[in-house]
Amino acid sequence: MELWQQMLRQSIDSADDLVKRFNFDKETAERLNSLFHIRINPYYLSLIREPGDPIWLQCMPDATELADDGLPEDPLNEDGDSPVPSITHRYPDRVLFLVTSQCSMYCRFCTRKRKVSDSSKISMKYIQDGLDYIKAHPEVRDVIVSGGDPLMLTDVMLEKVLKGLREIPHVEIIRVHTKMPAVLPQRITPQLVEMMKKYQPIYVNVHFNHPWECTTEAKQACDLLADAGFPLGNQMVLMKGVNDDADVVKDLNRKLLMMRVRPYYIYQADMVKSTNHFRTPIRVGLEIMDKLRGHTSGLAVPYFVIDAPGGGGKIPILPQYILYHDDEKIVIRNYKYEVFEYAEVNDDTKPVPVDNDARFLRRSPVVIRERKRRISKRKATSTVKVKNEKPAEG
Ligand code: SF4
Repeated sequence: MELWQQMLRQSIDSADDLVKRFNFDKETAERLNSLFHIRINPYYLSLIREPGDPIWLQCMPDATELADDGLPEDPLNEDGDSPVPSITHRYPDRVLFLVTSQCSMYCRFCTRKRKVSDSSKISMKYIQDGLDYIKAHPEVRDVIVSGGDPLMLTDVMLEKVLKGLREIPHVEIIRVHTKMPAVLPQRITPQLVEMMKKYQPIYVNVHFNHPWECTTEAKQACDLLADAGFPLGNQMVLMKGVNDDADVVKDLNRKLLMMRVRPYYIYQADMVKSTNHFRTPIRVGLEIMDKLRGHTSGLAVPYFVIDAPGGGGKIPILPQYILYHDDEKIVIRNYKYEVFEYAEVNDDTKPVPVDNDARFLRRSPVVIRERKRRISKRKATSTVKVKNEKPAEG
């Protein structure tokens, strides 16, 4: 048995463990464990400095999860876009391929907690169905291998998946999404990367949320992957009490770059059942972005996105840099809030893209509703104004 497998065996993974080691009330611990399975491996546990710190919050269950927050189990409607159990096919040329339900730590904020840790919902028996689906869809050129954590598969099993994908001629890119470098870096072994190297190009997306996760062990894991030629990107979830602070995110992103990991996304936390206590106001993410862009290397500035509820996909959200824009000029501000003008190009041969946006926006039900609301508000205000102005007219 490899070291990482031995470590997994020593994980906290039952309600009894919570009662014995952390003084949880037995009934609460059992309810939390049945809501979403508990697993904290000894490596990640060792990163906790005190109860309630950013590492603790990510892995330790909290009684708040038991409150009915009214949020859905599948806010991104992944299941609605799932032609076979292991595949979500939402975008034209890429699919999400779920190959295991298991993770080395069960993150309390997990978006896929309705399936993760439940082998009846994501299972190896569905892997062949997934490969067959991808094979039958020549438009799929990019496959995101996820789960659970795909690196929970043994090297032999993972190789079957990667080999199966590489045998499909239209699959150009494979992406492996794993939290292992952050939560159990011992999983990244020379044997694993040697095996994966045979199936390049593979992009590895990792998931660090806090600078304390950037340890010597994590750096060794990322070095092994980077030395083997896998481009590394990070996906961070913005969470209250964990990383809702620009200095923390800046520190994390700088440390990631030192480990050759490019910060790729900051996600606004999804609206997932039992995770409401992690959600932050959207302005927090915008403020963080405002304090990154220009204040630190552009390499350390990821996209801030909202994964649109219902399956709309990832939508980038930016602080407001455009102050004004017409046919003659654009007025913009920089990171120091200094204002600049840039002359617009007169090009009669092409439609101005903004017009297209405006046409789209005019049709959007949300925008129509908002416009009606504003008009009726304006009417109400102008009535008051007329009344006030009457004496002056007289
Ligand atoms: S590692 Fe990923 S899939 Fe597993 S519990 Fe954490 S967020 Fe969910």
